[in-house]
Amino acid sequence: MDDTADEILKGDAAHVWHPYSAASSTQPPLPVIGARGVELELADGRILTDGMSSWWCAIHGYNHPSLNAAAHAQLDRMSHVMFGGLTHPSAVDLCQKLVALTHDSLSRVFLSDSGSVAVEVAIKMALQYWHGKKSGPRNRMLTVRNGYHGDTFGAMAVCDPDTGMHHLFTENLTPHFFAPAPPSGFTAAITPEHTSDIESILREHHNAIAAVILEPVVQGAGGMRFYSPAYLQKLRDLCDHWDVLLIFDEIATGFGRTGKMFALEHAGVVPDILCLGKALTGGYLSLAATLCSEQVANDVSEGGAGAFMHGPTFMGNPLACAVACASIDLLLATPWEQKVASIESWLQQGLEPAKALAGVHDVRVLGAIGVIELVEPCDMHVLQSMLIEQGIWIRPFGRLVYTMPPFIVEQVQAEKITAGMVAAVTGYLEQLQK
Ligand SMILES: *Cc1c(COP(=O)(O)O)cnc(C)c1O
Repeated sequence: MDDTADEILKGDAAHVWHPYSAASSTQPPLPVIGARGVELELADGRILTDGMSSWWCAIHGYNHPSLNAAAHAQLDRMSHVMFGGLTHPSAVDLCQKLVALTHDSLSRVFLSDSGSVAVEVAIKMALQYWHGKKSGPRNRMLTVRNGYHGDTFGAMAVCDPDTGMHHLFTENLTPHFFAPAPPSGFTAAITPEHTSDIESILREHHNAIAAVILEPVVQGAGGMRFYSPAYLQKLRDLCDHWDVLLIFDEIATGFGRTGKMFALEHAGVVPDILCLGKALTGGYLSLAATLCSEQVANDVSEGGAGAFMHGPTFMGNPLACAVACASIDLLLATPWEQKVASIESWLQQGLEPAKALAGVHDVRVLGAIGVIELVEPCDMHVLQSMLIEQGIWIRPFGRLVYTMPPFIVEQVQAEKITAGMVAAVTGYLEQLQK
């Protein structure tokens, strides 16, 4: 098809559905015809500096020569082969790398095609784990408010009931247990009151609860909230005490984003099951992984079914695995920890002026994540176009205007992103006053 903006938009408006959008939205998307480094090239010739990493994924930026080379090499060998009864070097290589990168106790890897499915797999593992047990099956999950775990039904049932729109699907969602969200703030003190609800739910219902699931340290799409690693230490103790599995969803936080390779390292806590996705392939292809301990793997396998009952058609897709391996190698070959620390300080300095704005509730930064939280939900389309005028790609939602740039971002580009965010938010809030 034609690469002109008009042609693309005409086709898009006629037939294409976008995430969380009406079928024919009055707000057309921006046609992108190329991307390299931290820049997106639009069909009308404009260039935007990317502050989103395409929803946490593109940590190495776009069109990276090493990732391109890995994809080409695998393409010439084979793009796909079924994973039932067959295996291949890229999948084995990737699973070895994931086991080496995470804690020793996480030693089994189940590959799937998206984050939501990785969460479904984690929940199913927890349910099957209890199946063969004398204490009998357990079919409920326990989680905290403000969580986001994906859009499929199992994942949706553990998303925040309000932002996850549970009322639309009441009859179709398993009713799980929800405790209050951890208190805001990476350095916030954790007192016994903060875990008293979760503790009483566990005391009363532990025989029905298969696992606790939550996003460690950073709650992403449920509010871009940061909380103290100490909360996770307390939670690990509670799960051990009440003999309930612990699942960490690191789909957003994994691969360096919070300043550690995985956010769980801030707490020194190891879950029984770990979900990875998003940045796994550096944003090239859809791939996710669910890791678990040998004990979980054994008990799942020895339970009633004698096997883990899941198997996506595209499980272990070789192209995706090959790029994931290259992405991990690339990350490890760079001083990513220092780079994320630099990005953290650039974001802190750059977003600081937003703190003084009336209409801004909070400004917070952790690792390569910077958030401006407004007092009131924004008109996303108005603010979005103001951000684009600043030459940056930032996608606000609700009260949040946030950035998680690719790790290759340079200081001038980071400053362009933060200055653009502050200018757009300033302009937007001023316009509201009129
Ligand atoms: C994005 C996300 C998911 C869902 O991943 P998809 O690839 O969109 O299905 C699950 N959990 C967390 C924490 C996420 O950020």
